Amino acid sequence: MKPAFNTPDWVLAALDERRQHDLVRQTMTLNSAQVPHTQIHSQNFTAFCSNDYLGLANHPKLIAAMNDTAQVYGVGGGSSHLVCGHLTPHQMLEEALADWLGYERVMLFSTGYMANLGVISALTGKHRPVVQDKLNHASLIDGALLAQAPLRRYLHGDVKSAEKLLSKSSDSGLLVTDGVFSMDGDVAPLADLSALAARHDWMLMVDDAHGLGCLGDAGRGCMSLAGLNAQTMPILVGTFGKAFGTAGAFVATSHDFADYLTQFARPYVYTTAMSPAMAGATSASLQIIQSDEGEERRARLAEHVAYFRQRVKSLPVALMPSNTAIQPIVIGDSKSAIRLSEQLKALGIWCTAIRPPTVPAGSARLRITLSAAHSDADLVLLCDSLEKVLTAKLSNATR
Ligand SMILES: *Cc1c(COP(=O)(O)O)cnc(C)c1O
Repeated sequence: MKPAFNTPDWVLAALDERRQHDLVRQTMTLNSAQVPHTQIHSQNFTAFCSNDYLGLANHPKLIAAMNDTAQVYGVGGGSSHLVCGHLTPHQMLEEALADWLGYERVMLFSTGYMANLGVISALTGKHRPVVQDKLNHASLIDGALLAQAPLRRYLHGDVKSAEKLLSKSSDSGLLVTDGVFSMDGDVAPLADLSALAARHDWMLMVDDAHGLGCLGDAGRGCMSLAGLNAQTMPILVGTFGKAFGTAGAFVATSHDFADYLTQFARPYVYTTAMSPAMAGATSASLQIIQSDEGEERRARLAEHVAYFRQRVKSLPVALMPSNTAIQPIVIGDSKSAIRLSEQLKALGIWCTAIRPPTVPAGSARLRITLSAAHSDADLVLLCDSLEKVLTAKLSNATR
């Protein structure tokens, strides 16, 4: 098909630049639901890069709940929450989440990206700075840009480095961290960050996209691991696209903050509410997460993590300090990471190489993610395959 107009040179140049550095990204079509055993380009693969950590994205109970909710409430939100798009399934989900996590209020957002834009842009500004971990998710950084707030970043996971920044600031503001870091899999020092924020009278916001559902008591995530609660972690963001297996996000906080965000969080005010059917499916997901089945799924995931680390320990690569479903293998340059990903593909393993700017320059990696939906045999296949390609690579290099 002919393009409708001539592509400007700067567009082509930007693409060329990415191509030359092996940094071009493109979509791939999966010919299946989001399950470990999938089909891509008519070939069968076992996938190890989905965020569906508990295997709920294709769960029959979620599918049934989505259908049942759609029968009664339809599929479209119809408007923003504040006009007439806040339906009973949204309200029920908000209340169930607030009960589960012990917060006064929960507000739904359409995506995690928008929740982070909304909260940070509403709570920071020219005289309300924001201090963030260097490895925070892009949406948290973008929230600060949207607010045009002074943004400072501390060394990854380093409370002393964070303290320096808070001490230097004349205005008090918002301290923000991922709970589980999305590209590394390690957990933030939340108890210490919470104490630090309290000492300096700063607000603390935690984005636990990768911890909720997977970690802690009844899947309550990082706050449970760190022994924190609604008082010591006043603003918690969670997303539904990962362990929950659906889509959307939420902020758990106090009545006052929720009322404030309802007025001032533009990505809440000026967007259509998530589908009520999605809210219904997400409520079903939350029920599973809180149930014995959720416990069993978390246990299976933890077993997979332990097995993976045990096997990879003896291979010529460095494991990251992660006990979560995210088990990256850092390779370094993008070309090598892509080559490794291709070698694994030849063995039936799908794991997309993650390259800059998603991760810092020189730290391209295979972001291997494990799921309760994987079988023991899947884990054996993964580890055997890694052993094959990594030891082959070593003997090539020493030849
Ligand atoms: C995935 C992710 C988000 C974005 O959530 P979406 O619902 O996918 O937009 C935000 N924060 C972190 C840490 C994430 O990993």
